[in-house]
Amino acid sequence: MKQQRVLILGGGFAGLECAKSFPEDQFSVTLVDRWNHHLFQPLLYQVATAGLAMTDIAQPLRSILSHRKNVTTLMGEVRTIDLAARQVHLKDHDTLDYDYLVIAVGAKTGYFGHNDWAQHTLGLKSLDDAMAIRKKVLLAFERAEATEDPKETAHLMTLVVVGGGPTGVEMAGSLAELAKVVLKDDFRRIDPSSAKIHLVESGPKLLTTFPGTLPNYTEKRLEKLGVTVHLNSPVKEVGAGYALIGDQRIESDIIIWAAGVEASEVTRTLGGVPLDRAGRIQVQPDLSLPGHPEVFAAGDVVSLTDAKGVRVPGVSPAAIQMGRFIAKTIIENGTTLPRNSFVYFDKGIMATIGRSAAVASVGGVHLRGLPAWLMWLFIHLLFLMGMRNRIIVFLHWVWSYVTWQRGARVIQS
Ligand SMILES: Cc1cc2nc3c(=O)[nH]c(=O)nc-3n(C[C@H](O)[C@H](O)[C@H](O)COP(=O)(O)OP(=O)(O)OC[C@H]3O[C@@H](n4cnc5c(N)ncnc54)[C@H](O)[C@@H]3O)c2cc1C
Repeated sequence: MKQQRVLILGGGFAGLECAKSFPEDQFSVTLVDRWNHHLFQPLLYQVATAGLAMTDIAQPLRSILSHRKNVTTLMGEVRTIDLAARQVHLKDHDTLDYDYLVIAVGAKTGYFGHNDWAQHTLGLKSLDDAMAIRKKVLLAFERAEATEDPKETAHLMTLVVVGGGPTGVEMAGSLAELAKVVLKDDFRRIDPSSAKIHLVESGPKLLTTFPGTLPNYTEKRLEKLGVTVHLNSPVKEVGAGYALIGDQRIESDIIIWAAGVEASEVTRTLGGVPLDRAGRIQVQPDLSLPGHPEVFAAGDVVSLTDAKGVRVPGVSPAAIQMGRFIAKTIIENGTTLPRNSFVYFDKGIMATIGRSAAVASVGGVHLRGLPAWLMWLFIHLLFLMGMRNRIIVFLHWVWSYVTWQRGARVIQS
């Protein structure tokens, strides 16, 4: 029997799960990603704040898929998708044909139409982003120690995080612990604990998707760590060395943007396919593209309210579930219609604030403090790709917990 060719774009949570789900005899799968690794984005903030090395949260796609003999991994950047010709064009002019296409290229940092702010801010979507933040933060403390100008010291030691969702909360909490605890005794001319960390949120509370008192608890815990939380404070302007928050101008060279995401630009090449304002593909209930039963999309690149009326969030469990669902649909139905509709299974939400402090809402139960933090640690270890990474991350965390140190502070200028 002739093998069907499945082309998967993106080796993130959705694409990788999909690639792993096809039986070897019937399907020849090609997975394309612009990087050679799968990245565990939920721990990126720990790389950015010197808690983990970049190799601890990433693993080569080729090695993850080495036992899947029907999967070919290609490193390449997708530029355009030609749905009519059933072809995908890569940056280096290669063209790939397919019988089935799965678009799982994820999201990128979004600036709500203010794309010029990108040059003055630091996003957090890739290992490069995390390494850039780490370098900029650690160099700022080095420069503050070297200068004798108090105004410059204050400027260097002011950090701004924009966006009060889980990523912003985790970044702000981790930066506060870095400055006020980890670096505290390592400098002679400056006091790192006097660093100012601002967390800026346009809405009335942090972690808007979290229920009950969890947002309020998060705010209080962050303030205890020394973070200044600005609520109801939309960013009006960002420029070189400053951010305008309401009427307040904060002078800082380190403005970390955790406020928005939009779909990868690849979706804009899809012609008449409906997209939402953030460029996400408005898929059919079976995750296929309208008029193209052979083309599917999964993960952060999708905009969908599922068959039970639930708005599917941009989180890794949703991406994994979609990747698995698409493979099952192709295996069982091919292009035959009608097909089952995707239904999201909500496993709960959680965010960490700092040492021994996290919030979680799982199955209607709200947890906070140490129990939520332990659960957060356990779940992140469980889902991290590769046994080596799990062991190393676990050891890093134990070592950091006992010594209050962080193991990845070496930078090159
Ligand atoms: C900092 C951060 C923290 C997060 N924390 C959590 C959390 O705690 N819990 C949670 O559930 N979710 C979290 N998320 C969200 C979660 O990571 C995403 O929902 C998930 O990664 C989506 O999976 P995906 O497969 O759609 O996209 P991704 O995992 O982003 O994968 C997309 C892949 O496509 C590749 N790609 C993109 N464009 C191209 C192109 N043009 N050509 C070739 N390849 C391309 C990328 O290299 C990438 O490998 C976090 C995200 C971030 C950024």
